[in-house]
Amino acid sequence: MSADLYSWGRFPLLPQRGHSVSWRDELPAQLERVVAQHRMTLPYGNGRSYGDSCLASSNEVLQIRSLDRLIEADWSQGEVLVEAGMTLAELLALAIPRGWFLPVTPGTQFATVGGAIANDVHGKNHHRRGTFAHYVASFGLLRHGEAPLQCSLEENAELFAATLGGLGLTGLVSWARLRLMPIKASQIDTTVVRFANLDEFFALSNELDEAHEYSVAWIDCLAKGKDTGRGVFIVGDHARYGSLEVSSRPRLQVPLTPPVSLINNLSLRAFNSLYWRVHPQQRTQRRSAYEPFFYPLDRLLNWNRIYGRKGFQQYQCVIPDADARDGMAELLAAIAAAGQGSFLAVLKRCGDMPSPGLLSFPMAGTSLALDFPQSDALEQQLFPRLDAIVRQAGGRLYPAKDAHMSGSDFRHAYPAWERLEALRDPTLMSRFWKRVIL
Ligand SMILES: Cc1cc2nc3c(=O)[nH]c(=O)nc-3n(C[C@H](O)[C@H](O)[C@H](O)COP(=O)(O)OP(=O)(O)OC[C@H]3O[C@@H](n4cnc5c(N)ncnc54)[C@H](O)[C@@H]3O)c2cc1C
Repeated sequence: MSADLYSWGRFPLLPQRGHSVSWRDELPAQLERVVAQHRMTLPYGNGRSYGDSCLASSNEVLQIRSLDRLIEADWSQGEVLVEAGMTLAELLALAIPRGWFLPVTPGTQFATVGGAIANDVHGKNHHRRGTFAHYVASFGLLRHGEAPLQCSLEENAELFAATLGGLGLTGLVSWARLRLMPIKASQIDTTVVRFANLDEFFALSNELDEAHEYSVAWIDCLAKGKDTGRGVFIVGDHARYGSLEVSSRPRLQVPLTPPVSLINNLSLRAFNSLYWRVHPQQRTQRRSAYEPFFYPLDRLLNWNRIYGRKGFQQYQCVIPDADARDGMAELLAAIAAAGQGSFLAVLKRCGDMPSPGLLSFPMAGTSLALDFPQSDALEQQLFPRLDAIVRQAGGRLYPAKDAHMSGSDFRHAYPAWERLEALRDPTLMSRFWKRVIL
């Protein structure tokens, strides 16, 4: 049993007690035990969700992380069967030397396979490959009081769809069969160019996204007026030649949580402005190792601690194509006017490939993600303003990052919630689901 597990944003700060197992066949008895003692629980991967979707209403979670084994692999086809607690980093360490990569990866490699399924995560190539769910062939699902199930498009298809993006509420995923993507080298060939405003961002995206596997932009969310939306546009593709190397860069560590956030207006403004200026005005090609390209923040372990004891919230929304330009301009103006924002806000066009999952977040449109130190003003002033803009534009927020969305906004933006609720294992309940549904 382990104490003090949190969500990544450490807001709300609700320590979770982890009930772990060493072997898959111990899971049914452990689930039975925790439910008998605490009535409700929730699967917990590696706590890389920012808000309260990985927190159990009972604060008693079933920790899946120690189930991290490779069960079976067909390296000629790039198909692997892994336990659900394996992290994406552990999977990449097995796959890269054999010439395979994750077809979809989020911005951290420390998420587990189970967590990636439950949030149906997306990456910098959503416009080409959709979400993680597309590459899940099948998985094992354990529900309280039932025999273990196997779920795929053919078997238990309703539970298959509901579990992909199902926020851990339909059962415990114990293993998953995944399809990988072939690569010739682990390096990424990138093109980097800075842009002066939102119109230039959309022009670059229209010109470059289709031709490249990966596309993302970092923006200076504190720039105002004619500079609103200025940033750095980055596209990339797996190199056609090079080596197949698993990253072994040393990691740094934030050793403790300071009493107050180290992120303030001054440091933010200086960093954002500098970041923009050091990037090239002309398109510049570079070759990058995969880690700094996909997972720049993973270099600094426990970076979430720099926000101090109050923690922080990430705001991630997507706005449909028709209103994306104006909606993003309004959001950025509201954020700059409030003088709050994050070091690196991420702007990304999503594609139109629908997910097989019921409650998947991305939709054809533009997504914005940024972090804010936790404060009362955030909840009372800025977030209501941002939520109104997103609602008006027909967009939605990402549950994996959320700790504030209203129940009515959630139910309106995710109408399939009723089907998920009908298939929910009645012994599984998160803080998030309790907040938005009950
Ligand atoms: C730096 C950083 C960058 C990120 N970038 C992205 C990004 O680009 N795109 C994106 O989509 N997300 C991104 N995320 C969010 C992250 O990928 C997701 O929150 C992911 O689900 C976290 O996985 P986890 O294993 O830590 O799961 P947890 O956070 O522990 O849990 C997440 C959910 O999965 C459920 N769950 C966990 N394991 C299981 C299981 N075995 N069976 C059933 N349910 C389970 C939990 O109940 C919970 O609902 C980022 C997070 C960080 C910290």
